[in-house]
Amino acid sequence: MRDVVITVVDGRIVTVTPWRADSVTYDLSRYTVLPGLIDAHVHLNGFFNRQGKLANSEDGETPAQRAEERATVALVTLRAGFTTVVSMGADAEKELRDQVRAGTLPGPRILTSLAQIRDTTLTPDALRRLVRRHAADGADFIKIFASGALVGGGRPMFSDGQLSALCDEARRHKLRAVVHAHDDVAILRAAAAGCTQVAHGTLATAAGLEELANKGVYFDPQCGLVLRNYLENRSRYEGIGDFDSTTVALIAQLLPKLPGLLRTALATPGLKLAFGSDATAGAHGRNAEDLVCRVREAGQAPMDALIAATSGNADALGLGREIGTIAPGFQADLIALDGDPLRDIEAVLRVRFAMKGGVVY
Ligand SMILES: [Zn+2]
Repeated sequence: MRDVVITVVDGRIVTVTPWRADSVTYDLSRYTVLPGLIDAHVHLNGFFNRQGKLANSEDGETPAQRAEERATVALVTLRAGFTTVVSMGADAEKELRDQVRAGTLPGPRILTSLAQIRDTTLTPDALRRLVRRHAADGADFIKIFASGALVGGGRPMFSDGQLSALCDEARRHKLRAVVHAHDDVAILRAAAAGCTQVAHGTLATAAGLEELANKGVYFDPQCGLVLRNYLENRSRYEGIGDFDSTTVALIAQLLPKLPGLLRTALATPGLKLAFGSDATAGAHGRNAEDLVCRVREAGQAPMDALIAATSGNADALGLGREIGTIAPGFQADLIALDGDPLRDIEAVLRVRFAMKGGVVY
């Protein structure tokens, strides 16, 4: 649409009408206005500490220092046009989420899992109890590790019975279950277990993705930002956890293959593709680089990439009537880009205005 006036009252869009020489509060006519972007996969708890290294439990920082660094992550993400993010979470994100929600800290709407379930020694009953505990703690969804780290071969972790218990218990609490899975074995288990979304799929084949499509499971593959960021910032990651020269070599080998995975996903009929950048330390605020990658390197149509990161993701999150669309009744999450992203997708990297719930940041 061109030359329209979007009227916002109490944080919501009330009308979208043709402009007739009205005076307006914000004249964005030089820009392209979009619904605020949504990233369905970030790690707000991944950030660099004061020594410039990946923050970790042994770096001696105080909870207050960490909270400040986490708050910076939230702000740079919002200012990059992402008004909603889904964080594969940590306990500490609860405070951040609640402060943003209360309006005392600037940041995107945050959905967090508060924890990541990876203990394969637990029985199905114990796993159900764990899901119930996260639900009671206020988790917005459940995050499950169904594959190990790629460095260890990305092997499947939870059995069919364990995954079914986890995803079934999540469903009973009306929580989405997002499953980190790399190969077809883990992907097929997640699909059979009725989980909501599979993340990564780094080693997936067309057959695995077809099964996700058949079962209506959302898929959020990454196009490049996450791995490129590890290489760019390798000195800040190296020596922490299991990140070493073997990790770097593996990442360098996998990075050029990611756009191919996206192409396979785009060619899979009926596959519901969410947009998730997997942004962590070093990549926050650069989330849209993965949208550019989708268009430039994986051949996705610019409009489809934009829809994936707005109304498509809103649907994936069960928030399709709340966010991701510019229409009466929706939250006033609006951004303005310098340029036309349909002709020049890099315009998504040039966010000049960001409003969330009617508040300009
Ligand atoms: Zn992740």
